[in-house]
Amino acid sequence: MKNKKKWLLILLTIMIALAVGFAIYYFQKGNATKWNYSDLCENASKIRGQVSVNSVGNGIYVLSGYYEQNGKLFKFTAVIDEKDYYAFKDLGLTDMMLSYTAGNGWQQLLISLAPTLIFILFYIWMFSSMMKGGGMGGNMFGNNKQRPRETKSDVKFKNVAGINEEKQELVEIVDYLKNPNKYAQMGARVPKGVLMEGPPGTGKTLLAKAVAGEANVSFFSMAGSEFEEMFVGLGASRVRDLFSDAKKAAPCIIFIDEIDAVGRKRNSSMGLGTSEQTLNQLLVEMDGFGTNSGVIVMAATNRADVLDPALLRPGRFDRTIQISLPDIREREAILKLHANNKSVSPEIDWKRIAERTPGFSGAQLENVLNEAAILVVREKKKMITINDIDEAIDRVVGGPAKKSRVMTLQDKQIVSYHEAGHALIGLKLRSASKVQKVTIIPRGNAGGYTIMTPKDESNFSSKEDLFAAIAGYLGGRAAEEIIFGKDNVTTGAHDDLDKATNIARKMVTQFGMSKLGLTKYLTMAEEAYGQTKGVYSDEVAYKIDQEVSRMLDESYVIAVKLINEYKPLLELIAESLRVLETITAEQIDYIEKNNKLPNEVILEKERKAKEDKKREAGEILEFEPDEEDETKK
Ligand code: ADP
Ligand code: ZN
Repeated sequence: MKNKKKWLLILLTIMIALAVGFAIYYFQKGNATKWNYSDLCENASKIRGQVSVNSVGNGIYVLSGYYEQNGKLFKFTAVIDEKDYYAFKDLGLTDMMLSYTAGNGWQQLLISLAPTLIFILFYIWMFSSMMKGGGMGGNMFGNNKQRPRETKSDVKFKNVAGINEEKQELVEIVDYLKNPNKYAQMGARVPKGVLMEGPPGTGKTLLAKAVAGEANVSFFSMAGSEFEEMFVGLGASRVRDLFSDAKKAAPCIIFIDEIDAVGRKRNSSMGLGTSEQTLNQLLVEMDGFGTNSGVIVMAATNRADVLDPALLRPGRFDRTIQISLPDIREREAILKLHANNKSVSPEIDWKRIAERTPGFSGAQLENVLNEAAILVVREKKKMITINDIDEAIDRVVGGPAKKSRVMTLQDKQIVSYHEAGHALIGLKLRSASKVQKVTIIPRGNAGGYTIMTPKDESNFSSKEDLFAAIAGYLGGRAAEEIIFGKDNVTTGAHDDLDKATNIARKMVTQFGMSKLGLTKYLTMAEEAYGQTKGVYSDEVAYKIDQEVSRMLDESYVIAVKLINEYKPLLELIAESLRVLETITAEQIDYIEKNNKLPNEVILEKERKAKEDKKREAGEILEFEPDEEDETKK
């Protein structure tokens, strides 16, 4: 019934609008002075501005425009035949601007109606959105916009690689969603909310979808930031909408991404009045639905520490699942999973690639394979090879290689020693990380980079490990200083210094690994979020700075000592880098064991030397076009 009325109204509007359009059209027509051919010729000199010429078919032309009489402008139209039209043009009036509008009267009509039509469409749009918004008086924007999205998920647990223990925790929830009655009869209380905490891209969304997919229930998803988007103050009403929709669709999963955007501690200095309302509403809703109503809320965050403790109380998010970046075996599994739907060379050793990608999240690994696939398509090849994956990893790490960025010979010298310095510390300092790859090809902001991975896959770092990491970061600068002298060191090390300082500062303030003892001092973030325990005085701040700088100095001395001790090795690595630009773990191993350049480097050097000789002798021209073969064909 309501619908019928709506369409009737729309129809009526269209008819009125059309009538108005026609009226305008005829009014314009009627107002113009009608000329025949001889009038046109007589008054030709009075015509001002452009004359629009419209050939309406059957050799009939409609000319219209303006003419001036007694200082006023009037409109004219003249309907003439083809012969007269050309005669008119031949009158010597051709210099008059003629503008041609193609087509017939109908098209002209349409053009004059266009503004009206646009108006009608706008009206319909407004009207229908009001209808959806619940009656004419409803809030046109607030009510229907950003309604939580209900979808079915076809993700299954088998689409989530690694994180097995975490999946195991969720199996029970899937079972509950499948038969809520079984649990209700037993009087068992199933968690209402599950909080997943972990870095971005580790598969939290994926896992929530997999739970919905396994249980075959609806999936409502909303990001914390969306609650407050567009119109401040609507957050609370969105939360209400979300839960009321979900209850109707139960059993189901509500997934709230970035819950920290609404769930910040309420008393913190960063708390905002409106998001506080949103959070309160969320708490009310979670308390409001019965334990066995079949709605499970899953939320994701990478900062559980800033969440309001009220969210974590029993009956709310009473289960927390920690998801961390994948370890080497998980990375291998994720790579294999995403390689499944792509054609990849059977020679690829996924373990090696997993080894080369420490610290990558699941999303980044997926991205690596995607980049590799794009490269293969671009080069019109059939399958992904190890080289494509290598290039893809580098792209994901630091953006596309800037092969075109010209590197002066001097830059190359400096970067080669700098990177060789990092690599050398990795090789020679016990408990430093293992060097996987060194390159001097610039990427993003970095002049070059050295990839290192921890020698053992332990979750803990010892004091010695951390000192080694600091020395590793300082190795670049140390090598520069030893080779080029104290005054010639470059700005290339500034990122290294940043990282080294961070580690040292953490050792002092977080890990209790310095002279300052076991006290844990606050980080800036913790202080900003309202923690008070561990705030320190200016005197302690001074001591911390002193201690950090002492630790950095000591590590630097170690780095310098090592590089001086193994200078020939440094030279070999640096030279290999200048020749090949990128060297692998195997090549570094070879250099270390045999104390000489690898064969590839020697061959490449010989080839370059020969080329140089030819160039000197004038046998090769510098910018020889290499399309010669094309012309011979
Ligand atoms: P988060 O929600 O933790 O930020 P997502 O779940 O959105 O991360 O992950 C993004 C993408 O990364 C997923 O769609 C998936 O393709 C990939 N991914 C992440 N972790 C995994 C995993 N453990 N197994 C398979 N794919 C993963
Ligand atoms: Zn460096």
